[in-house]
Amino acid sequence: MNAIAPLDLSSHRSCVVLTGAGISVASGLRPYRGAGGLWTERPDQIDVATTDTLVRDPAAIWRLFGPMRAAARAARPNAAHIALAELERRALSLGGACTVITQNVDGLHQRAGSTEVVEIHGRLARSRCSRCDRPPFDDTSAHDLPLCDRCGAPLRPDVVLFGEYPDVDDEHRAKRALRECDLFLAIGTSGTVAPASSYVRWAEVNGARTILIDIAPPDPPSPAFREVLTGRAEDVVPVLVGV
Ligand code: ZN
Repeated sequence: MNAIAPLDLSSHRSCVVLTGAGISVASGLRPYRGAGGLWTERPDQIDVATTDTLVRDPAAIWRLFGPMRAAARAARPNAAHIALAELERRALSLGGACTVITQNVDGLHQRAGSTEVVEIHGRLARSRCSRCDRPPFDDTSAHDLPLCDRCGAPLRPDVVLFGEYPDVDDEHRAKRALRECDLFLAIGTSGTVAPASSYVRWAEVNGARTILIDIAPPDPPSPAFREVLTGRAEDVVPVLVGV
């Protein structure tokens, strides 16, 4: 692991942290891509996590996401999640801000204590109707095929499937935080999947300091990253935050 200097928050007003599956591996949750990745080992499952499947065979959606929901419920935040919650507390105490934009659907940032979290891909522990406008609701059960008690259509996990776009309000919050940030961290993600791939460029255009932290950063990394720290999130992030 590289020698890491702790962040000096007094020189940064506003921080954005983009996180991906790599930050939750130490919590026992498997990544999607790379070694041991769900999509890497079972590429057929990519076709399941789609809007087509939701229409054709909604039970298959639950066969995929039901066990993932149970795994997320059983997982605990690790040292990286906890350090990021501390980063937000310190930023707020200095009159600044820290927003986590996460591609993860596991809810571990909030459970670690982060309060400003944009879940750009939704949340596993929430369900919504596949047809009517009933508001999404907290739901941690691993269903076979639940039906909406208002309209009878199949429920679905409140996550962004392939073929769908992030929620407009979530994207708006993410963009507003990126416009204002002067420090951008990407953790446990290559940052190569849209829309996350554009986030670092926006931060960089704004003049933010940009740091990529990943166990296996792309070679070469996006030129928008000024610094790259190679290592496990749970090792690097606590040192960077200085906890
Ligand atoms: Zn409904």
